Amino acid sequence: MRRRPIPAVKPADLGEALRYLAEGGKPLAGGTDLLVAIRKGTENPPFLVYVGELPELRVLRETAEGLEVGAALTHAELLAHPATARFPILRQVLATIGSPAIRAMGTLGGNLVTASPAGDGLVALYLLEARVRLVSAAGERELPVAEFIQGPRQTALRPGELVRALFLPYLEGQPLSFFRKVGRRQALVIAVASLGALVWVEGGRVAQARLALGSVAPTVLRPREVEQALVGRPVRPEAWADLVPLLCAATQPISDLRASAEYRRKVAGRLLLALAQALARPA
Ligand SMILES: Cc1cc2nc3c(=O)[nH]c(=O)nc-3n(C[C@H](O)[C@H](O)[C@H](O)COP(=O)(O)OP(=O)(O)OC[C@H]3O[C@@H](n4cnc5c(N)ncnc54)[C@H](O)[C@@H]3O)c2cc1C
Repeated sequence: MRRRPIPAVKPADLGEALRYLAEGGKPLAGGTDLLVAIRKGTENPPFLVYVGELPELRVLRETAEGLEVGAALTHAELLAHPATARFPILRQVLATIGSPAIRAMGTLGGNLVTASPAGDGLVALYLLEARVRLVSAAGERELPVAEFIQGPRQTALRPGELVRALFLPYLEGQPLSFFRKVGRRQALVIAVASLGALVWVEGGRVAQARLALGSVAPTVLRPREVEQALVGRPVRPEAWADLVPLLCAATQPISDLRASAEYRRKVAGRLLLALAQALARPA
């Protein structure tokens, strides 16, 4: 059966976009998630509102406290912009998304709102404790990313609301960044499990650590007990081995076409040791 074509509008500015959204339109940015979902039949919006070229969503602004990243900037644009050099973890993660063609179309805002447990951009946003800046006809509001994401493919986005930008607070000191994604093949991989980390090391020991795991729980997971238990430990895999069961116990993986829950849990543990190995290696 042929599906009906879905009408689309291209508003000239944010005000016009918000008026269309208030009438029930669905935002479309790069379309790399939404158009796939429409084709599969899991999404069937009454009409699409193209937000990918709205100037208000394409701002990249350095402030005294951090970097404001417009939601409609593509992964490729963010990778190429000098301002993102202050966030190596963001670049490490974005460089693994899809392929050059997907990175040229897909946006950070789209990755966020899709709210996939396997969303790679989300791992960086959780590590950076990003704040989501939302706008609607009623005004602006801001939520921490971990509050904005409410479950697999569920967010706090209200009808008529757009993600305008992500705010990334600057980090103190110079943490080491790590991102490793395990999939079923080398390229165009949807993560079976992933681990991102920011680790502050002083005198060969962990001074502070942030960890974020993808694809092993309904949302990206920050295993806080493991983060705390790492403080003071030498950066050697042997010194972290007892934390593997703690990390595995924090995960809540599912079994699906790509991997079993048991395999995902094991991989999460192995990724913690891979992190220790990477940190132990002289730069
Ligand atoms: C072949 C392929 C490979 C992929 N590989 C990866 C990968 O390795 N890692 C990964 O994480 N993802 C991957 N993806 C998924 C996808 O590319 C990313 O999630 C991308 O960042 C989505 O952004 P988009 O601009 O295309 O979103 P769209 O498809 O345009 O929109 C996605 C959702 O976000 C909403 N939305 C978009 N912008 C806004 C906004 N500003 N405010 C409110 N709502 C908004 C839309 O309504 C929709 O619900 C892949 C996709 C494909 C097709």
